Amino acid sequence: MSLFDLTGRVVIVTGGNGGIGLGMAQGLAAAGASVSIWGRNAEKNAAALKTLANGACEARVCDVADPESVKQAFDETLARYGRIDGCFANAGIGGGGRRSFLDRTQAEWREMFATNLDGVVQVFQHAGRHMRERAEKGDPFGRLVATSSLASISGTARNEHYAATKGALNSIIRALAVELSRYGVTAHCILPGWIRSEMTHGLMDNDKFVANVMPRIPMRRFGEPEDFAAIAVYIMSRGSSYHTGDMFLVDGGYAIF
Ligand code: NDP
Repeated sequence: MSLFDLTGRVVIVTGGNGGIGLGMAQGLAAAGASVSIWGRNAEKNAAALKTLANGACEARVCDVADPESVKQAFDETLARYGRIDGCFANAGIGGGGRRSFLDRTQAEWREMFATNLDGVVQVFQHAGRHMRERAEKGDPFGRLVATSSLASISGTARNEHYAATKGALNSIIRALAVELSRYGVTAHCILPGWIRSEMTHGLMDNDKFVANVMPRIPMRRFGEPEDFAAIAVYIMSRGSSYHTGDMFLVDGGYAIF
């Protein structure tokens, strides 16, 4: 059997209807997993679902900032498949560049935390409880993965609220890696560099931004959503069972240059 065969695995990818999440979902589906992609926009969900190689995949409308919506999506996904083996909490919003910290409004701060932090915690709690229950019944296996950001480890002017949510994810993941190991559950953060997506297209169409940033990327290209397919498959595979609590930099070498 292939080390990376995910047949029989069920994986949730929040924000799986576009960008990095869709890149991960496509990789997971191609490796045989049944993937449930969650997003707010039903049309984006439907279009994304058509690109997944496995006919057993599905898409659900869910707003991760709303705990009721997360509970409903989780319960329905579990009811459909009977198990959840992995959860990629990837849905997120950006907020960079628009306003100084000194002028940050409470509403902006709260929206950022509700989506990028609370939304991750909610889905991990549902998935983690289910994984613990399965482990106690003799089937220990689980993967909890958060999409963090290089913003969590570097100084990000006018983006401190976003960076704070991502820094918190790094800390939460390390705690979960330690706490949930006993159930066969591993936990990781993925830290993307500059990746082409809806979130960044404005920046990447900006010549000044490209002229400043590209020389600082050793690979001399922006990342693409498909650059996240194989790392998702590795994490979901049995082969990664002794690997936990990591922070995967997927950034073309940007952070170390
Ligand atoms: P996109 O804007 O392309 O994707 C964001 C995804 O999140 C969409 O699928 C969107 O779907 C979903 N989403 C947003 N808010 C919610 C919500 N409240 N509930 C459910 N789904 C939601 O951006 P990226 O692919 O670039 O971003 C994915 C992750 O990667 C984010 O967490 C981001 O912070 C992180 N990241 C991105 C980087 C980059 O350079 N692109 C760099 C570092 C980190 P819908 O609109 O339908 O809800």
